[in-house]
Amino acid sequence: MKPLFDPSSGDLERLILSFERQGWLVLRNEKYWTARCSCESKHWKLVQVSPRARNYGNNVRRKLRRDTCWMGALV
Ligand SMILES: [Zn+2]
Repeated sequence: MKPLFDPSSGDLERLILSFERQGWLVLRNEKYWTARCSCESKHWKLVQVSPRARNYGNNVRRKLRRDTCWMGALV
């Protein structure tokens, strides 16, 4: 299933695309994307569809780098 993109959130769209490029499974419901890593550690991350914090995307990226095997935007 393809996630539906909110056109107002280009930064998060790039984040979601980076998950898909790295083989994460991404599903969307009304409030969250759920991204699941395909590695043995089964990393996963919830990403808000409409976050209020302006730097939300970068905070998520920082946590992903620290806590999971996510490798950045353009791998
Ligand atoms: Zn992983």
